[in-house]
Amino acid sequence: MKITKVDIYMLDAGAQRASRRPICCRVHTDEGIYGDGECGIAFDYAAPAGVGMLQDLSRLVIGMDPMRVEAIWEKLFKVSFWGQGGGPVVFGAISALDIALMDIKGKALNVPIYELLGGKFRDEIRCYASQLQFGWNDRIGPWGKKEDYAAISRYAMEDGYDAIKIDFTMYDREGRDIPNACCEGILTSDFYKMVEERIVAIRESCGDVDIIMENHGRTDTTSAIKLGELCDKYHFYALEEPATALSPNFQKQIRQRVKTPLAAGERLYTRWQFLNYFRDDSIQLAQPDACNCGGITETKKICDMAYAFDVKAQVHCAGGPISTAAALQLSAAITNFGIYEHHFRSTQPAITCLGKYDYQPKGGKYRIPDLPGLGQELSDFAIKTALVHVTVTEP
Ligand code: MG
Repeated sequence: MKITKVDIYMLDAGAQRASRRPICCRVHTDEGIYGDGECGIAFDYAAPAGVGMLQDLSRLVIGMDPMRVEAIWEKLFKVSFWGQGGGPVVFGAISALDIALMDIKGKALNVPIYELLGGKFRDEIRCYASQLQFGWNDRIGPWGKKEDYAAISRYAMEDGYDAIKIDFTMYDREGRDIPNACCEGILTSDFYKMVEERIVAIRESCGDVDIIMENHGRTDTTSAIKLGELCDKYHFYALEEPATALSPNFQKQIRQRVKTPLAAGERLYTRWQFLNYFRDDSIQLAQPDACNCGGITETKKICDMAYAFDVKAQVHCAGGPISTAAALQLSAAITNFGIYEHHFRSTQPAITCLGKYDYQPKGGKYRIPDLPGLGQELSDFAIKTALVHVTVTEP
């Protein structure tokens, strides 16, 4: 089998376009089998760079045998030159191609990808309702009042979830954006009080629901340790991205002062970057994104390495339907599965219409698709309405 062509798309996420422009690829072969992949920089400001990088890297795989997934990964890593510098743009593109190759391999062998990763370890996966400050299903935020935080959390619980994730630092009491500077350094007592009021309202309304505090790397060591007090006091499940991912030392300092398990990884790329955190014992819930850390093959290696350090894994997932499908295949197979993130955006029709199938959790649990390959592909609608479409056929 030979790779003959790669189609690259920037998809139109309609109403979600301001924050999501999924970048996907479809790798074609001379045997008529194709595979889909996603480059995990759909959100915020790097999407066009993902298209450009995919275009460059696709040239390197034309004519190669798609079944040689590791050989292709190593070529992209080494021959691309910048691969060894890390970063989301290079590894987003490598990831998209790797996922598409695994999709092809699964289809060629007529098995779901989880069979290529050691087989199905579990039949269903526990999910948390993620980023409730933005909304959930048909209830769209942002939220300001503590009562709103309690109500949206209860709404997710009524949907069957027993775990939620919220960024409490994003919006003020009127639902307006809070500037980054307010989240750094010594927090004002009013800010701290605002976060605690929201937590108390959720605890009073939702009881022992598992809560992840999401800081999006907007806090620094000083403010994260302070908010970590609240995580400890109210028995949080995890504290996510308490400081910028660029310095493992920051997270190490926070780990020494906060008892709540720390989560991070959506902005770490490859096994090498995760290794530094594992050695420091500063991640308890590793969150590699299959669409930007190096693909399905790399995510499996990161999760297995996490296991050797006694760390649980949650495959980060905040993109389009291909990203969800890749995360589900991995979550089915990894031994040290922690929990699964079902993102608010993945509940929105503007995102789900981009996939041929609309997989949603039932009662807070996902079933694993059993179709060959990813079990998902880009919908005709996604391809027809793409904002950008580039085809690569020549090395
Ligand atoms: Mg996050």
